[in-house]
Amino acid sequence: MKLLLVDDSRDDRILVEHALLYAKFPVEFNWVQSVEEANETLLKENFDTVILSAQIPGWDSMELLLDIKNHAGEKQTAIVMLSDVDNHDLALKCIRSGAHDFIIKSDISAKRLQRAVIHATARSELELKLRQSYERVKFLAEHDALTCTSNRYMFDMSLQNAVELGQLQHTCVGLVIINPDRFKFINDTYGHEAGDAVLVELTSRLKAILKRDEQLFRLGGDEFAILLTNLAYAHLGGLHQRINEALNAPMQIGEFEIKLTLSLGVAFNPQNCDSASSLHRCADIAMFRAKQLGGNTICFVDDDAQEQFKRRFNIENELQRAIENDEFELHFQPVMCSDNMSLESCEALIRWNHPEKGLVFPDYFIEVAEETGMVVELGRWIIESACAHMARWQRHKPVDFVMAINISPQQLNDKHLVSFLDKKLSEYGLRPQQFELEITETVLLRDTPEVFNNLQTLIHRGFGIALDDFGTGYSSIQHLHSFPISTVKIDRSLMPTPTSTKKSLSLLKGLMSMIKSMDLSIVAEGIENLGNANLCRDLGADRLQGYFFSKPLPANTFEQDYLYTRRARQVAV
Ligand code: C2E
Ligand code: CA
Ligand code: CA
Repeated sequence: MKLLLVDDSRDDRILVEHALLYAKFPVEFNWVQSVEEANETLLKENFDTVILSAQIPGWDSMELLLDIKNHAGEKQTAIVMLSDVDNHDLALKCIRSGAHDFIIKSDISAKRLQRAVIHATARSELELKLRQSYERVKFLAEHDALTCTSNRYMFDMSLQNAVELGQLQHTCVGLVIINPDRFKFINDTYGHEAGDAVLVELTSRLKAILKRDEQLFRLGGDEFAILLTNLAYAHLGGLHQRINEALNAPMQIGEFEIKLTLSLGVAFNPQNCDSASSLHRCADIAMFRAKQLGGNTICFVDDDAQEQFKRRFNIENELQRAIENDEFELHFQPVMCSDNMSLESCEALIRWNHPEKGLVFPDYFIEVAEETGMVVELGRWIIESACAHMARWQRHKPVDFVMAINISPQQLNDKHLVSFLDKKLSEYGLRPQQFELEITETVLLRDTPEVFNNLQTLIHRGFGIALDDFGTGYSSIQHLHSFPISTVKIDRSLMPTPTSTKKSLSLLKGLMSMIKSMDLSIVAEGIENLGNANLCRDLGADRLQGYFFSKPLPANTFEQDYLYTRRARQVAV
């Protein structure tokens, strides 16, 4: 038996060790003098028994006692409290806090100590058995016997908690009710055992594709549910896709090959309802809607969500095809030097040559591309295409001409971003200084190690980093301060209009003067008239961009109007 004595006194240690020796008690004796040492030792090693002094000067032994109890887990440690004084209240407090016995130092004898250790060990073993059987009963009460997944009882509790928490934190809770199509047919045709095996297989396939914040339950029979917290619609799109992929391969059930499809019904709280029970009812209604449509589909309880989902789903599919078919092109918007209104840089903006819709703007697809992660692949195309244009323009472009490329949050999270940029720049014989990467503040809010490392390396390489859309969203001064950004782009929503108030003009002035004082370069976006061009120049903007100069142009028009013409070359000198 491994025993640890926690006691500051050397005399007590001799007393205890001798008593154990005298009793011929087979122990491996260990001694520490402080609670701190005890904590360290207990982290490293397991002990069968801890004899803990209730009075260690400067330490709270009760805290250690509670710590040992709280971290008991599967290991069992018998705890005997040792006290200098015969204090009835203290003894009760120790026993209530989980000590298994309590002895007074003056009472210690070989027999008394041996009895205490044996008594404490027996109690602690009993305690462990009780805990294990409680956990077993709890597991049985909360889990479904066939699939070992959380059951209806757990579902009701979790749904209630999720809805209450969602209401408190103003987050969205989603519920997906799942029902296999033609399950009765499977049962009738292949037998109930096969039916059970299908449910087990379905559970394990679903469990395998779930992410954090997605929890699976079997509600009974062939009905399952996935509860989603911290939810966005696109997240649900991802889940739907993962479910479809998980069921793609037929199930091998004994000698049968069974292809299972599902009807899914979705509802959201608070969008569709205001309580756990109404959320369940709504998701049920949606699931019946899916059944009525013939199954193998996903339905929402309200038409708006259904429309939005369908739209996003279509865009997602179309995007995949568009990337494969090379349906994108870059347009370029000139950015002018505010001093002489000559071309200083340009911003590359993506356009989609949609086979049916014609030229499509990024507002239509960039969000979906971002949410589905496709933006990483698309971003590579953008970088490659930007490099190809820049290389072609080498001989014609003004000295120090820079091209700005928009880099989305997902791209900046991609650990291959830098190596991809390196590769393309060397392929096309370009330098990082010829590019400015536009990022938004949402990226800085994420602040993951990948983002931070990527940003640091990009800056180190010599890329300019511009903070886009400043003045919307968070616009934190802290970000300007703590990230090595070279340029700030003032969002077009801050440009004065005929209806602007004095306050909004003051805001623009204040922002500009603050950014200037930090020695950052300023690009004013959304310049639509001469008045705003002059205003922003006077307020200290270094560069100006907007429809007043030009809309984004297809590459050949940009080349003709800004790079190859005599006027442009003159301007460029
Ligand atoms: P952004 O980065 O803020 O791009 C500027 C947007 O403002 C462009 O819209 C541009 O056409 C528009 N704009 C420029 N001057 C004016 C003006 O004077 N008045 C008005 N009303 N608008 C002006 P666009 O091309 O539709 O792009 C919209 C957004 O889509 C971009 O906002 C950017 O967030 C995203 N985006 C565009 N191209 C790319 C890309 O290649 N990659 C990534 N990740 N995102 C892109
Ligand atoms: Ca931009
Ligand atoms: Ca912008």
